[in-house]
Amino acid sequence: MNKRDYYEVLGVSKTASEDEIKKAYRQIAIKYHPDRNPGDKQAEEKFKEAAEAYNVLHDPQKRQQYDQFGFAGPMGGGFDGFSGGSMNMEDIFSMFGDIFGGHGFGGFGRRSGQSQQHRGSDLRLKVRLTLEEINQGVTKKFKVRKDTPCHHCHGTGAEDGSSRETCSTCHGTGVVTRTAQSIFGMMQTQSVCPTCHGEGQIIKHKCHECGGTGVTKGEEVVEIKIPAGVAEGMVVNVPGKGNAGQHGGIAGDIQVFIEEEENDTFIRDGNDLIYNLLLDFPTAALGGEVDIPTIEGKNLKVKIESGTQPGKTMRLRGKGLPAVQGYGSGKGDLVVNISVYVPKTLSRDERKALEQMSKSDNFKGDRQTKDSIFNRFKNYFS
Ligand SMILES: [Zn+2]
Ligand SMILES: [Zn+2]
Repeated sequence: MNKRDYYEVLGVSKTASEDEIKKAYRQIAIKYHPDRNPGDKQAEEKFKEAAEAYNVLHDPQKRQQYDQFGFAGPMGGGFDGFSGGSMNMEDIFSMFGDIFGGHGFGGFGRRSGQSQQHRGSDLRLKVRLTLEEINQGVTKKFKVRKDTPCHHCHGTGAEDGSSRETCSTCHGTGVVTRTAQSIFGMMQTQSVCPTCHGEGQIIKHKCHECGGTGVTKGEEVVEIKIPAGVAEGMVVNVPGKGNAGQHGGIAGDIQVFIEEEENDTFIRDGNDLIYNLLLDFPTAALGGEVDIPTIEGKNLKVKIESGTQPGKTMRLRGKGLPAVQGYGSGKGDLVVNISVYVPKTLSRDERKALEQMSKSDNFKGDRQTKDSIFNRFKNYFS
């Protein structure tokens, strides 16, 4: 399926404000809302397409990632919940119910289902990674304190064997309806029944552990796989590992924010690594071989040509960091910046030898530099 640009879908400019995006989405969503277009497949597709676009563009972080990387999304796996390009209606109501809800858009909104109403909240974690971990990718364990399904009632909220009875507030429908004035005229507003939380039934005897919510605080060790090549500021989203939802709702996500430790040996530049090599003077003058460390931990033997000047850079292809899955392929380079070490102390003999050499024209770097500048620009002088 050929996907349309999200901005195009909502008919807004790339610089649109959050408010403009929300407004644009609301208009489209109302126009193509399934309640207004029963059985119309095309309207449904448009409705879903707009929801997907809105899901990404109304979230500053996702929007930035979309602007930067396109449909691939934050980790190349697509934006959460949308990777396959298909999204079900319940998801849309669960995510953007607030858009329809409130007042004036009566009749639209969550149509059923307590599980959307009670989606658990997301958890945010931070992880600090070394460059070596980033190079290889790493699985980290986190001990998180979060809402977990109540072990006593297994999330049902009912005490052992307790039966359920029809909710007297909504008579089992799970929704309460009221009539209100809206921009479309008189409309019926439906909202989730406050007594039964949309379930249509109430529990006779609530679980004594969770008080009927179906969740309790607990600790869980969560293993999270961080892909290779991530960088400071990126977010890895782990669906369904956040807080459990009350009353049988779906769980939230865990978002892991990546932080990067400084490395003693390398400086990171995108996927390239920079290594500053301090060459001893004889090797720079005579040429030779040096060991260059790599992020893999192995040294590379690299040839130094005779007469190598400070300021020279060498690029060792493919010896940098891997790209995050889905953003291009291959690896960055290892960039070696060369400077030359000048001895700080000299023995008497060394001093003598250098004084001797300094008389040679070959050591008159100053003049050579002037010459070369003159050569470069001589066209301007003649
Ligand atoms: Zn319970
Ligand atoms: Zn009810």
